[in-house]
Amino acid sequence: MQFLSLYLHIPFCRTRCTYCAFNTYTDQADLINAYVQALCMEIRLLGRGDPVHTVYFGGGTPSLLSASQVAQILATVGQHFSLLPEAEITLEANPGTVRPGDWAPFRAAGVNRLSLGFQSAIAGELALFARDHTLDEVTRAVEDARSAGFDNLSLDLMYGTPGQSLKDWRHSLAFALDLAPQHLSAYALSLEPGTSLWRQVRDGRLPTPDDELAAEMYTELTEALAGAGFVQYEISNWARGERYACHNLQYWRNLPYLGLGAGAHGYIAGQRTVNVMRPEIYIRCLSGDQGGYPYPTTAATQSTERISREDAMFETIMTGLRLMVHGLSEAALPLALGKAWMNAMGR
Ligand code: SF4
Repeated sequence: MQFLSLYLHIPFCRTRCTYCAFNTYTDQADLINAYVQALCMEIRLLGRGDPVHTVYFGGGTPSLLSASQVAQILATVGQHFSLLPEAEITLEANPGTVRPGDWAPFRAAGVNRLSLGFQSAIAGELALFARDHTLDEVTRAVEDARSAGFDNLSLDLMYGTPGQSLKDWRHSLAFALDLAPQHLSAYALSLEPGTSLWRQVRDGRLPTPDDELAAEMYTELTEALAGAGFVQYEISNWARGERYACHNLQYWRNLPYLGLGAGAHGYIAGQRTVNVMRPEIYIRCLSGDQGGYPYPTTAATQSTERISREDAMFETIMTGLRLMVHGLSEAALPLALGKAWMNAMGR
């Protein structure tokens, strides 16, 4: 049976990080409640009882939602989909936005995996990125979340940043390993046009990141994590104790997911879908939606693109090549592409 994944986009942040080009807004916190109601409406409109094995609250800063708002969203998912009892339910959290007493209510709401924004253990780098948390807050967030019963924590790290030395990188890596997460993602900085960091590099106020040095950092990363007992299961992701990110595996295997929320992307029923970007427009669209749009669209869908079988096969191969444990197997293709087409291919 093919299981579905749900991506729920929460497009609110307290401040914008200097490298960030995501669809998020720093001046619209007053919309959060109406946004949650709109998200629940979209879940109702697209729910057909399909079995769901992963739910991912991404952003933005999903930890700006209250635990009761998260519980309301998950209850709506449970009413309109068949949410598997063992489903992986991830919340991206900013260590600066969560108070110690908030973790247990998030756990009670059904969240069982946390992805904590961290990026660096160098205070100067956190300032350069305008991350709105301190290192102490990261350590405290990990401790408090564990005490509240979270046993599946992921940390994000970033390397290849302007002015970052190998010594800085080793320090951030060691700091992350000391926190003993089950999962770690590490990405080389991508300077996105229009971001503050991109402008500072373009104007010569910051040095251009050194690709050779970033490659050296990646080598150190793979060695350090292997030494610490992590398995590299994707080119930028590591896990211990087989705590792979099941939600992300759905993307890398090119399997179906619904993208719900402002600016969210989905891939389902052979179509890629994109929602309207701005939260206030998203809320307006959903508040007037009486249903009747062809599945998998709603009044908040901005565009759809039908993916041909050939393109789907190409994408399955390209994303599958990122996987280093699960790999790309011939057995995975019928799952992603459908048995009938594989039969037609004579496989
Ligand atoms: S917390 Fe994440 S989504 Fe928000 S501004 Fe920073 S990088 Fe962007």
